Amino acid sequence: MANEWEAKRLICEIGRRMYQQGFVAANDGNITYRLGGGRYLCTPTGVSKGFLSPEDIAVVDDEGKQIGGTKPRTSEILLHLEIFHELPEINAVAHAHPPHATAFAVAGVDVPSCILPEVEIWIGQVPIARYDTPGSKDFAETILPYLRNKANTILLANHGAVACDKDLEHAYFHLETLDMYCKILLLSKQVGKIQQIAEPKVRELLNIKQQMGLADPRLNGECEVCTLAGSDEFLRGFSTQAIPQHTPDANGHGRGSGIADMPSQAGQPQPKSLPRFPAVIAGREVPGGDYLGSSSNAARARAMEDQSERLVQLITDKIVEMTAG
Ligand SMILES: [Zn+2]
Repeated sequence: MANEWEAKRLICEIGRRMYQQGFVAANDGNITYRLGGGRYLCTPTGVSKGFLSPEDIAVVDDEGKQIGGTKPRTSEILLHLEIFHELPEINAVAHAHPPHATAFAVAGVDVPSCILPEVEIWIGQVPIARYDTPGSKDFAETILPYLRNKANTILLANHGAVACDKDLEHAYFHLETLDMYCKILLLSKQVGKIQQIAEPKVRELLNIKQQMGLADPRLNGECEVCTLAGSDEFLRGFSTQAIPQHTPDANGHGRGSGIADMPSQAGQPQPKSLPRFPAVIAGREVPGGDYLGSSSNAARARAMEDQSERLVQLITDKIVEMTAG
């Protein structure tokens, strides 16, 4: 980094990007930078990160005590200092509430790995730190185990995400990569089944990562390449069950859009046949053309696979019920 002023200017620029991307609302989020000599730049509290100017940036010491700037420092400084103290090679930390990523942190569902190459290289597996009250020392310490495992991007349960790197721009990029990834995952889940990259190909990515000098615990065999506890939950949870069409009940009342009519994913009885979706080409219904032409086989195969998965779940539940009784 050229100098203190340049670092302040870059913090303002990152704040603007965060705000423009919708990663923060109102005065949310905070950004910090290690100047060296026990001094750190940090964003002020109570100011929108979309409209910062270099004069707004505060300076704090190793304990978070303000030693420079006219506006009071961020209330979440302890989270940032935890990272700076634990990882001497890290110079920048960015914290925000990117909505797609935060959705995983709120649902408590691990972000699956081994799906997009860039994500594997730049971020790797993303842990979720347990919830604690923002701003507290206990909150700051929730990320400690993951820092020790060299995670550069961590989700904070019921809160948001924090990312770090050697420089400000990369710390911010991790948040951007994570949120785009989570957005793609959520979209993919609606389109069909999410497919993971085969493990040998993920190893190729990890080798590239190693050549680039980027850390990943999987490189040292500290954890399995494509297994992340809980990610199965997201990968398994998709549904190919078509949304039932608008069907009036016996009294002629509509039953809504069908969303509420969808069977829940946890072992609910299944309809005997799949709902019929007539194929429509150029605005005309094609007789007998259920499940849209060329994609019909794939759609049927997915639907059948999903149904058989549910059937296995039903039988398992029944067995558990019987043995418990
Ligand atoms: Zn926050």
